[in-house]
Amino acid sequence: MKEIILGIITAALIFMAIIGINVMPVVVVLIIVGGLYYLLHAQGMLGVKNIGAAYEKDAELHFEDIGGQSSAVNELKEALEFLLKPEYIVNMGIRPLKGVLLIGPPGTGKTLLARAAANYTSSVFLVASGSEFIEMYAGVGAKRIRQLFNEARQKAKRLHKKSAIIFIDELEILGVKRGRHSSHMEYDQTLNQLLVEMDGIIQDKEPYILLIGATNREDMLDPALLRPGRFDRQVQVGLPDRSGREQILKIHTHNKPLNDDVDLMAIARATFGFSGAHLESLSNEAAILAMREGEEEIYQRHFSEAIDKVIMGEKLNHKPSAEELARVCVHESGHAIISEYTQRGSVSSISIIPRGKALGFMRKSPQDDQYLYTARQIEHQIMVALAGAMAEEIKFNSRSTGARNDFEQAWQLVGELVANGLSSLGIISREHLPDDKFFCETKTIIDRLEKQTREILQDYETLLEKLSDALVREESIDRQEFEKIIYPSLT
Ligand code: ATP
Repeated sequence: MKEIILGIITAALIFMAIIGINVMPVVVVLIIVGGLYYLLHAQGMLGVKNIGAAYEKDAELHFEDIGGQSSAVNELKEALEFLLKPEYIVNMGIRPLKGVLLIGPPGTGKTLLARAAANYTSSVFLVASGSEFIEMYAGVGAKRIRQLFNEARQKAKRLHKKSAIIFIDELEILGVKRGRHSSHMEYDQTLNQLLVEMDGIIQDKEPYILLIGATNREDMLDPALLRPGRFDRQVQVGLPDRSGREQILKIHTHNKPLNDDVDLMAIARATFGFSGAHLESLSNEAAILAMREGEEEIYQRHFSEAIDKVIMGEKLNHKPSAEELARVCVHESGHAIISEYTQRGSVSSISIIPRGKALGFMRKSPQDDQYLYTARQIEHQIMVALAGAMAEEIKFNSRSTGARNDFEQAWQLVGELVANGLSSLGIISREHLPDDKFFCETKTIIDRLEKQTREILQDYETLLEKLSDALVREESIDRQEFEKIIYPSLT
């Protein structure tokens, strides 16, 4: 439409110029009006910003393309029944759903679930993000909400669809508890409008509208959004477990040439805590690494390196000085010896190739997912974290700034011990425990574990030297080599 009007105006101007009319004043007026329109449009003042159009063409996604979220998929499918069989739902006297809230950490597939839901129900799909509704001008957000719902209805009618799904990502931005925000007038108006629109959804008339919201901060949402009749179905979309991760890896590698040595199960075991987005990035990085080496296929080693890259960042070119390198080698060897001492088979590799912010790192062997830890297991993790600095102290009589992250990790773990009632304080409420008491208890634990770690490393000082020397020479040591160096010295 815009293009046609512009075409007609240009043709009229040319015609006027040909027959000798002075068109300059008209051109100047048009430029001023156009500039003003552009400015207001950019600020959202005209409310014509196109919200919710991005994914329409791209909605061909099926629930089978989403790995590791079977319970979320089942819950969502159940909620979608009313779009598929509205009469049945009405006959059963069930109040149809207006909103489904997907709750989970970033990159776990919430957007994918919403897209698949639209495809499954053959609905029009509109997507918007909470941040798109928040402007400095009061009333703009509310206007955009109205626009979004109208757009959904109109589009469904135009495309002869029975239903429309509106997906709002980052719902917490516009659904934050009322009165909490500094510029709360605009936020409150926008949220109020969303509530009004949700209440106005009439579920016995086509096109049916379903709102799907996504957030990882449901604690920030205004209670009015969560009350029955609004987002009354809440679906948890958590991090995938081991078999879920394997499924996601299969999905993201099915179009890639994998060598026979690739073991997706082993990769899934080594990626505890990875989200679907991490696994997608991992598969992509492995393919890029294979391409850099000029390989025709992707090998297991590419995946191993891609895991390091996803966790720690890209390899860095800068080379630390020989002195720094010697220290990093001792530091990483300390971690590795205590890790192997406290849990046999736990070290997968050690490297001093700088990556991301780390000058070196020890990679743990793949393990089964673990959700519960005993006090001793946490203490062992704390000892592994402290071991780098202890090793430096034994070898150089001094520590360095390289242990800061290790110490942060150790403090966080020791806090877990206390909060879980696994310290000498017994069962406590962290909230009611005075800070000085908490500090005393955690410091006592850290000091005890520091002493134990130091004693073990002192017993194995020769081994520490041997391992760090090998690391200086080789730069990276894999499991096989590691075993050759430390056994049978380590008992
Ligand atoms: P955010 O909360 O940050 O918006 P999200 O939960 O909506 O994240 P998605 O946008 O759905 O995450 O996922 C991002 C990408 O990660 C997807 O495009 C896909 O490649 C991959 N991905 C995430 N989860 C899965 C999954 N369960 N199965 C397959 N791929 C996934």
